[in-house]
Amino acid sequence: MKYLLLIGIVLGVLWLLRQQRGQAGQGRRPPSPAAPPASPTEIVACPHCSVHLPRAEAVAGERGHYCSESHRQEAEGG
Ligand SMILES: [Zn+2]
Repeated sequence: MKYLLLIGIVLGVLWLLRQQRGQAGQGRRPPSPAAPPASPTEIVACPHCSVHLPRAEAVAGERGHYCSESHRQEAEGG
């Protein structure tokens, strides 16, 4: 039961410190991370075989992103 009281005191001190820091640092907010327009792990589907894979690993074609170069050639004839 002694530890419970100790934890309460520590939490109270931390809360007070946070309150003081909030007053001192008014107007100075930490920079919020801007959301990227497209996540690096965006999943695309191959138009030829409907396999889903990360866009970074996909082969870009005229009609979309393909799972492999061979599927891009089969789908686009090139
Ligand atoms: Zn495919």
